[in-house]
Amino acid sequence: MKINPITLKSIENMKNKYKINDLEVEYETIHRNIKYPRLEIKTGYLYLILPNGYDNPEQLIKKHESWIYRKVSHIINSKKQAENRKLDMKRSDEELKDLILSYVKSISQELDVNVNKVRFQRMKSRWGSCSSKGNLNFNRYLKYLPAQLIEYIVFHEVAHLLEMGHNKKFWSIISTRFQNYKKMEDELLIYWLSVKDLEGIE
Ligand SMILES: [Zn+2]
Repeated sequence: MKINPITLKSIENMKNKYKINDLEVEYETIHRNIKYPRLEIKTGYLYLILPNGYDNPEQLIKKHESWIYRKVSHIINSKKQAENRKLDMKRSDEELKDLILSYVKSISQELDVNVNKVRFQRMKSRWGSCSSKGNLNFNRYLKYLPAQLIEYIVFHEVAHLLEMGHNKKFWSIISTRFQNYKKMEDELLIYWLSVKDLEGIE
C-alpha cells in the first residue's frame, strides 16, 4: 500500500529543519507500525516515515544526505523554471477529454494493446495511472499543459499495458516515440509546480 504523505501530514505536525550544505531542508516525522524507516520527498518537503519507537531521525537524514540533497535541489530548480512556463488557460474539460481519447485511440493502435476504460479525475499526486485490467486514469489538471506533454502522458500510460514497471524494457518502449523522455518527465514536474500554485493545492 502506498502511504500518501498529504493525508499523513495532519497526523503529526512536527516541522523540523536540517541543513545540508547550502540547503535548509524542512522535514516531518510520521510514526507508523512498520519495520523499516522510509523517506519520501514531495514538492521539496521531506517526510520520514518511521517505525514506532524510532527516535533518531537526524541520523537517518545524515545517512541519506546526498540523495536528499539531489532530490530537493532538483525541485528547487524546477520551481525556478516553473516561472517561465505558461499554462494553457483556454482548453476546456471537454476539449481535454477529446484530445486524450484521440491520443488513446491512435497510441493503443500503434502499440497494439487493448484499452478498457478511460477515466478523468482531479488528482494531487499523479498525471495518470494504468491498471492491469487496462483501465486508464488521467488527471483533469492536464488541461493546462501543452499538447505534446499530454501526448507523452498518454503514451506513458498506454505503454504500461505492455510493461507495468518503470524498468529498462518500459523506457525502451517509451524511447520509440520519445527519445527525450527524461526531459518530458522533468517538464511534468515543472508544470505540476505551476498547476499546484494556480489551483492552490498543498
Ligand atoms: Zn509510469
